[in-house]
Amino acid sequence: MRFDLVTIFPEFFAGPLDHGILRRARETGLVEVHIKDLRVFTKDRHRSVDDRPFGGGEGMVLKPEPLFEAVEALLGHNLGNAEQPAAPEAKTAIVLMSAAGKLFQQETARLFAKLDRIVLICGRYEGVDERVAEHLATEEISVGDYVLSGGELPAMIVIDTVTRLIPGALGNEASSQNESFSKNPASSRGSMLVGAEHAGSPQTDARIFGAGAGREAGATNQLLLDYPHYTRPADFRGWKVPEVLIGGNHAEVANWRRAAALEKTQRNRPDLLLR
Ligand code: SAH
Repeated sequence: MRFDLVTIFPEFFAGPLDHGILRRARETGLVEVHIKDLRVFTKDRHRSVDDRPFGGGEGMVLKPEPLFEAVEALLGHNLGNAEQPAAPEAKTAIVLMSAAGKLFQQETARLFAKLDRIVLICGRYEGVDERVAEHLATEEISVGDYVLSGGELPAMIVIDTVTRLIPGALGNEASSQNESFSKNPASSRGSMLVGAEHAGSPQTDARIFGAGAGREAGATNQLLLDYPHYTRPADFRGWKVPEVLIGGNHAEVANWRRAAALEKTQRNRPDLLLR
């Protein structure tokens, strides 16, 4: 997987790319991250990437030309114009980070993880000329219902989330199959301890992308949050680890985890159960 970042702050990414799973994935060649400085694609003396909004109003807007040219330089070909737009590239997403975009979710990340290349355009100021969303980007993506000052942190969120879903990025593949926002994490992870009957099967994955993905009836297909985890000490300042987790009865552990995941989802994210 190759990620390309288009940004006016190329130094921004020094820290976040250099730790943990992302660092290892880069070192082993599982992912490549390239950073393009948007100002390289300006032609005026001041290297201006922004301009005043048509129609008036506050703030400045990122101009379309440097963004189109930056992406064209990355893809190695011209993207055309209104009369003759270029055909979209296979297995490549051009993603505009935008508070007004579609919500980025674990399911989005799973789809992105199947691509070869993701170009992430980081907005700034009041945002980006709309022609970028309409005619350059293949997706306009928001990381949540709040407004940040730039697209760099949102782009990092996408890179991090997608990278850990690429086979080989995590030490333990089960960790990305049985976690929050996967189908019924508690039961599948629990069952791996008991035996193979309910372990995550390829069919479970296929359903995510099939027609009506994630909409099937029945609790086992619901998106749940992860179950609560505990480690030593068993008694910390008088707060004890649930007895069942210490008992060593795998079936009881699996049941407890399933119920605890459901309870936690009800408490923190009841909306997931209503989907
Ligand atoms: N005027 C815009 C906000 C601009 S914030 C609006 O009201 O929607 C400047 C830039 O930060 C955006 O262009 C975008 O790239 C990034 N950004 C801000 N919030 C974001 C979010 N929730 N998700 C993704 N990108 C975001």
